[in-house]
Amino acid sequence: MSSYKIAKLIKPFSNYKCEICNKHRMGKVYEYQSISFVRGYVPRHFKEMCGDCIYKEVYGTNLYKKKKKEGSLDK
Ligand SMILES: [Zn+2]
Repeated sequence: MSSYKIAKLIKPFSNYKCEICNKHRMGKVYEYQSISFVRGYVPRHFKEMCGDCIYKEVYGTNLYKKKKKEGSLDK
């Protein structure tokens, strides 16, 4: 894991729709883009992503709850 280029908190509070799970959310908004492993392929740059989705992408389903609690991407 940790194969990301951008993974950060961009807004502490907003009313938005997460681009991954398509759920309406209120709260923290994250921006995410993974690193490309394929030449010429640019991974999608997500500009509105919820905490659950970004922590899952970055840390995987086993670790994300713990990391989210620690707020390791929120700094
Ligand atoms: Zn989501």
